Amino acid sequence: MDSMRSDRQAKVAVVGLVGVPADPRGQWFTEAAATVPHLPVHWEVFAHRGGTDDAVAVAEEVVADGGFAAVVAGLREEDGEAALRVYRKAGLPVLLPLAAVPGDGKETDDTVLRMYPPDSGQAAAVARACRDHGVRRLAVLHDGSERGRRLAGRLSRRTGGAESTGPVAEEHQEWPGGDWSGAVALCGTPSGVAGLLRRDPSVAGQLVILTDDCVLPATGPDDPRPEGSTVVVARPAGGGAARTAAAFAALGSALAKHPHQRGAALIGSVRGELGESTGPRGETPYDGWQVGPRRLFPRLPAAPTEQHFEVAVIGGGLVGRATAAELAEAGASVVLVDDGTPGSSASTVSGGLIRAFELDEGERSLACEAYLALWGRPELAPAYGFRRTGALVLLGPADLEPAADSVGQLRELGIPAETVTVAGLNSRWPDLRTDGIAGAVWEPGAGYARGAVALAALLDRARLAGVRVLSRHHVDSLTTGPEGAAVLECSVVRDGDRTRGRVTADVAVVAAGCATPALLGERWPAGQPAASKLIRYGIFEAGGRRLPTIVDAVTGVWARPDGEDGLLAGYPFDEWNVPVAPSTVPDDQQVRWMRDGVSPRLPFLADARLLTGSSGTDLFVEGGRPVLGRLSGLPHTVVAAGWSGAGFKTSPAAARRAAAEAVQLLAEQRKQRKQGL
Ligand SMILES: Cc1cc2nc3c(=O)[nH]c(=O)nc-3n(C[C@H](O)[C@H](O)[C@H](O)COP(=O)(O)OP(=O)(O)OC[C@H]3O[C@@H](n4cnc5c(N)ncnc54)[C@H](O)[C@@H]3O)c2cc1C
Repeated sequence: MDSMRSDRQAKVAVVGLVGVPADPRGQWFTEAAATVPHLPVHWEVFAHRGGTDDAVAVAEEVVADGGFAAVVAGLREEDGEAALRVYRKAGLPVLLPLAAVPGDGKETDDTVLRMYPPDSGQAAAVARACRDHGVRRLAVLHDGSERGRRLAGRLSRRTGGAESTGPVAEEHQEWPGGDWSGAVALCGTPSGVAGLLRRDPSVAGQLVILTDDCVLPATGPDDPRPEGSTVVVARPAGGGAARTAAAFAALGSALAKHPHQRGAALIGSVRGELGESTGPRGETPYDGWQVGPRRLFPRLPAAPTEQHFEVAVIGGGLVGRATAAELAEAGASVVLVDDGTPGSSASTVSGGLIRAFELDEGERSLACEAYLALWGRPELAPAYGFRRTGALVLLGPADLEPAADSVGQLRELGIPAETVTVAGLNSRWPDLRTDGIAGAVWEPGAGYARGAVALAALLDRARLAGVRVLSRHHVDSLTTGPEGAAVLECSVVRDGDRTRGRVTADVAVVAAGCATPALLGERWPAGQPAASKLIRYGIFEAGGRRLPTIVDAVTGVWARPDGEDGLLAGYPFDEWNVPVAPSTVPDDQQVRWMRDGVSPRLPFLADARLLTGSSGTDLFVEGGRPVLGRLSGLPHTVVAAGWSGAGFKTSPAAARRAAAEAVQLLAEQRKQRKQGL
């Protein structure tokens, strides 16, 4: 197995501004690589600190190595073109998740994939932001760079044009004076815009719009921020973190399936992984721009000293990240503590099948809530890696009647769903065999999402809301302190050094996946015995077949499309109480078991080529009921764990409920303190 993995392991050069102080782009790159540990790719980081010579030197080093399959680059635009010429000449494919388009239209070729949305959308978003703030005039300033000038010209044309409903925009050379009653948009390179921000001054009370996420390197304690004005940032929808994660996930998946593919063919496969709607520039389905609050990245001490928060969330999987975001958005001070052990999160390897329909009432209630909150909302879901494929749940005779009732409930909630007869299944999906099936539920709005993208988008959302993130912090124990606070004793492993730290909080939310029962010990509810279970899947060549996500309630078969060329399919294995371990590609025997299990339902999988596969562990609770709520043995604690192989789709709702419980607990504590209890 190991030799198979190393043979399949492709090398990708990660070239970016990693290590530049206070520039989160490097952090996004590192985090994106960490959320795809299950993909057989070795990500080798080449940090460079900016400057054309440096970018070209790195490009020459990568090309000279001769062993790299591709490059993911976070190049500054001003450095990028010269370096790209080196990669292009060598035919080395380059993904640019964050690069703006230099010069309209001439940026596209077969080996460079830019995933940035076009600037015209940014101009529209700026105009919208002005309208939303009731602003009728816009001063556009640039830093003198080519990008700044170009974008400023675009903003002025778009927002001020005769046909525009936006504000009247004028290009300015300097900050407008104190009597300016409109907004100010700043265009340019990150350092140029930071310079513009430092220059001024008399902008109090104004709306300042930073374009293109361009303030990034200036964030942190010395971040220039005009006093008294509202500062917002225009950024690609979903944010740079999710976009970066999408690039890593798509490239990693393409290489997992086609480890020897190179050049334009590899870029073609990456486009397939990103989705049908990838445009000529590589724009992803979640294209577009949004204007929102500016991101602030608080710096943390290298080793934690004792820190106190209102809520500490333990576990940075989907549930923990979403809970932290919900709580911070509700105004709480929140820390998210995660050990970041590669492969330890079910969320990274998850199949990610998403739908609202479930036979079990409790699960259906969570799934519907999650669908309404996120997955069923086309304006939000794509930024979380969601792809709509429709979902089928195949049913046995005994399930038909209750399923019909449940479909009625879904419809009452406004979730499109219908029952399908066997004849309907046979005519619509001829690749599906229906032996033993009495009917199905069809949900056209359902689909699947990629864990890496959802995780990145959630972390971004959490950070935007002000969550402090402590990564590589393993919580060794959760106890009660002298004043009833939750006390988290942590070990921190950084650069090989192990230190200890302590975090205290009024309330702890434990969302540590499979590790939750061990962390809680005897305080885990006795009536809900839990065990970890291994889930495996293979990704097979789909041969151009178009199938939706499928769950077979009769046999346990589950499947979904994977990119443009694959079908991800699984069949239950009886592997219980397994320690959480890095994911593995199924071996020959395991593949045979899956083919035997799945092919009675999907006959073409009996001999379809296996492209790759994966495995992961999830916490199963007897009776399938998660532990979601307070614990009697730990008065300051809320638990959210035990999803029994189904917690991806329900995570947005689980997080809302866990957060609501924690907010309630905080309110009760406050009341008790007030009463002097
Ligand atoms: C192979 C596979 C396929 C699946 N397919 C689907 C599907 O198709 N649809 C679906 O809805 N669900 C699916 N699931 C289930 C779903 O993915 C999980 O239920 C869900 O992702 C669990 O999320 P979580 O945040 O609770 O836990 P996790 O994602 O496991 O995250 C827990 C986090 O806690 C951290 N942690 C643990 N202990 C500590 C500690 N002591 N200190 C600090 N940090 C700690 C871990 O490092 C990890 O990051 C699948 C699961 C697997 C494994």
